[in-house]
Amino acid sequence: MAIEFAGREAVDPFGLKDEDGYFWLKGNLHSHTTNSDGAVEPQVRVDGYVGQGYDYLCLSDHHRITRVDTVMAPDDFVLIQGAELHPDNPFGGQGHHFVCLNLDDDIDAKRMAPQHVIDQVRAQGGQAWLAHPHWSSVNILRDTLRLDGLSGIEVFNSVCECMGRGESSVHWDDWMEQEHKIYPMLANDDLHSDPADPNSGRFDYYRGWTKVRVKERTPEAILEALASGASYGSSGPDIHSISVERNAQGVAVATIRCSEAQRIYGVCSTYGAQFYDPKGTFEEATFALRKGADWVRFEVVGPDGSKAWSNPIDLTAD
Ligand SMILES: [Zn+2]
Ligand SMILES: [Zn+2]
Repeated sequence: MAIEFAGREAVDPFGLKDEDGYFWLKGNLHSHTTNSDGAVEPQVRVDGYVGQGYDYLCLSDHHRITRVDTVMAPDDFVLIQGAELHPDNPFGGQGHHFVCLNLDDDIDAKRMAPQHVIDQVRAQGGQAWLAHPHWSSVNILRDTLRLDGLSGIEVFNSVCECMGRGESSVHWDDWMEQEHKIYPMLANDDLHSDPADPNSGRFDYYRGWTKVRVKERTPEAILEALASGASYGSSGPDIHSISVERNAQGVAVATIRCSEAQRIYGVCSTYGAQFYDPKGTFEEATFALRKGADWVRFEVVGPDGSKAWSNPIDLTAD
């Protein structure tokens, strides 16, 4: 059965060529300032990410928009306006956290039903992403399945990682399994602290980012790349290319080029597969995937245990 992609047609970022004008931008879409419970002013937050070589940022304060015209940034740095909204969870679990991008008007999401918030975000042309469900103790079957119109999932969150619940990959897989639909991901910092404060000491900054494949440095191009899956997330490694082809026996075989890796997981809708080299780390891998899988997504594990997450690839098309 053909698999549906959430929202719109999926775009393979590794099929978008340099010679056609495409390039990668690195960004973080989840951060907090003194406009909510963050430790630094919005300008300091922007300056921090500019100084770290990021290309784009969202100041996603809780419950309110920090407007991009209140801060200064270099011309080639892209600010995406948004907020983290917290509607009720009427389905029994803890409250939802949605990272909402491309908002113009504040939404008073407190005590609002989650579907109502998603609908209002979309009515503004925005995107609502399911933030850190592992950290929130959000259960996909109980709390998320009845919602329609979420753009995807935050698979990695640096701050939550420091508290043992940073990775929501099982929630991601479960959601796609339950809905028979592919969702793209974000990897984010969710930075609240002041990296310049020697006592913050939590290492919860500049560790989660999403790279998008675009032709323009604009909010519109970045948002389109995120929603269509022309992206990958990382806490360390780079992914240079992914291709999946059928061999003569009809088995899907993946070839991945990446920065130095110790292992690659091929997480399939049916079980999983892996590649490692007993001789040591590697920068290219070719390995067979599980038979009968509807989709596969890849996790590249760097020498230090950090990871990169590809978006899922539809295997039902051929
Ligand atoms: Zn949150
Ligand atoms: Zn947050």
